[in-house]
Amino acid sequence: MTVASPKTLRLILGDQLNSQHSWFRTVDPAVVYVLMEMRQETDYAQHHIQKVVAFFLAMRHFADALRQAGHMVTYLTLDNGANTQSLPNNIRELIDLQGFTKFEYLLPDEYRLDKQLAELADLLPIETGVADTEHFYTKRDDFAKRFGARNFIMEPFYRDMRRKHGILMESSDPDAQPATGQWNYDADNRNGLPKGFVGPPAREHPRDVSDIVQWLRQQGVETMGTIDPYRFLWPVTRTEYLDMLDHFADNLLYAFGTYQDAMAPAEWSLFHSRLSFGMNSKLISPREVIDRVVAAYWADPERISYAQVEGFVRQILGWREYMRGVYWAKMPEFANLNFFNHQRRLPHYYWDADTRMNCIHHAVRHSLTYAYSHHIQRLMITGNFALLAGIHPDEVDAWYLGVYIDAIQWVEITNTRGMSQYADGGIVGTKPYVSSAAYINKMSHYCTGCQYDKAKKVNDGKGKPACPFNSLYWDFYDRNRAKLERNPRIV
Ligand SMILES: Cc1cc2nc3c(=O)[nH]c(=O)nc-3n(C[C@H](O)[C@H](O)[C@H](O)COP(=O)(O)OP(=O)(O)OC[C@H]3O[C@@H](n4cnc5c(N)ncnc54)[C@H](O)[C@@H]3O)c2cc1C
Ligand code: SF4
Repeated sequence: MTVASPKTLRLILGDQLNSQHSWFRTVDPAVVYVLMEMRQETDYAQHHIQKVVAFFLAMRHFADALRQAGHMVTYLTLDNGANTQSLPNNIRELIDLQGFTKFEYLLPDEYRLDKQLAELADLLPIETGVADTEHFYTKRDDFAKRFGARNFIMEPFYRDMRRKHGILMESSDPDAQPATGQWNYDADNRNGLPKGFVGPPAREHPRDVSDIVQWLRQQGVETMGTIDPYRFLWPVTRTEYLDMLDHFADNLLYAFGTYQDAMAPAEWSLFHSRLSFGMNSKLISPREVIDRVVAAYWADPERISYAQVEGFVRQILGWREYMRGVYWAKMPEFANLNFFNHQRRLPHYYWDADTRMNCIHHAVRHSLTYAYSHHIQRLMITGNFALLAGIHPDEVDAWYLGVYIDAIQWVEITNTRGMSQYADGGIVGTKPYVSSAAYINKMSHYCTGCQYDKAKKVNDGKGKPACPFNSLYWDFYDRNRAKLERNPRIV
């Protein structure tokens, strides 16, 4: 490859597929973009096969689109003879071989890669530069500036974000009130599903991925979960994610909040957007998503109530940005927190769904089949059980980091170790998210078909055995009394 001088090498990581980035506004023949498939990334956790396929396909499509737009691109596949499988080594080799005089990268969202690239940049004998990904509403250190040493609380952060960006507000005044006068509609949302309910069909973008699946097996990449190689349904391009967004705004948003927490054995995505992979890989931006759903609301407020759109905006403008803020304020210590000193291993049924607990069976089965389950399945079924059962947070983190298509450490660990396992002792959440069978029965249709009795606390030798969630729940509070008794949110 011959390029004009001076030559700049620009790195694009697999979760930095932002085609709207200012880097790509002009075509510069002196700039070469590099994307790399690497064993360091396929092997740092055991990922779901659909997650590996989605990332590699998204990267390959992105590289093709850049080339078509006239940019120069080097793409290292996993099996390329020149691929050292290590990020710093690949960069060093490219610089040596092709004589680049400058290396630039985008701020990584993972602590591990941030450290690796900062160390590399320090050692390189050429000029280096780092740019923002131009994806999030907040900058990495905004959060630490906002809260300082005070407790991190989502609600005031979210309200600041609404005011700052003028989203669903009565005016753009800094002291403006929400458009309806009310900030939080959680109480109006979160219904269970009616009996016999049949959910909307999941939006699919089916493609034959048998070649890449077979090739990954030949490469010896070890994965978890299953895939239909002839009908892989996840979107992997920006165009497809824009279609997912339209589909959500037009057909699902109207019931998003109402059924946000509901669960049923035959339903895997219900009214959820399934946009997390698209956003986390940066194929689409949170601004595009929020602007589209807010516009859908203003266009048809009769059909899409304010509670639905507020509930959705809160997840992205609130929780997503908040989790990123906590991550950068608290890493790397966050990754070692274990408030309850839990030590147990995760049971086999997190990998094979082979359990008589119907709720766990279905939540795990969805996870293994689709590389997806929605928030409440993650929090109140698999996460709830792991916390009650005293599983080591490292084990829980490894599973969540592997199994979900959207799992990237900044958003996985804050949700898992923080919100779900309370291993941070209350940085993310103000109390542990645990429940007995009563909550699961209220929000799902799992208990009806279960071999356990949701109402029994102990086995009485008659009929169905007692639901394990009940005894585990009371045991959890019993064994952790000393750690939780001063928590004002626990009575
Ligand atoms: C234990 C546990 C692990 C999780 N791991 C991840 C993860 O690895 N990656 C990830 O993106 N999300 C994670 N979440 C948050 C949430 O479950 C997913 O974002 C959501 O289920 C993705 O599906 P969706 O796109 O259909 O979301 P929807 O229900 O349609 O919500 C819309 C969007 O809001 C954002 N969002 C919602 N809740 C959260 C949250 N708690 N934190 C951050 N963003 C949120 C997501 O970007 C999501 O796409 C986790 C939650 C829990 C309880
Ligand atoms: S009875 Fe218990 S184990 Fe069975 S589905 Fe309900 S909560 Fe889950």
